[in-house]
Amino acid sequence: MEVEGLSSLVTHHYYEETCVICESLKPKGIHLYSSFICTDCENDLIHTDTNDPRYKYFLKQLRKITTPEIFS
Ligand SMILES: [Zn+2]
Repeated sequence: MEVEGLSSLVTHHYYEETCVICESLKPKGIHLYSSFICTDCENDLIHTDTNDPRYKYFLKQLRKITTPEIFS
């Protein structure tokens, strides 16, 4: 079986990080500034309509993501 070797190449990192939106530990996601957004929430965010009540929740959670290194 070569599956094991292949998957180790594909996986960039395998430690879990806390997603800023769902606040759960997830192994996969993207980094936005210093924050982590899991793949599930990233997809939800993309597919959630702005009229959806969940969109407001996402925005609220995303508001926690600031850019502390940028002071203008
Ligand atoms: Zn999440």
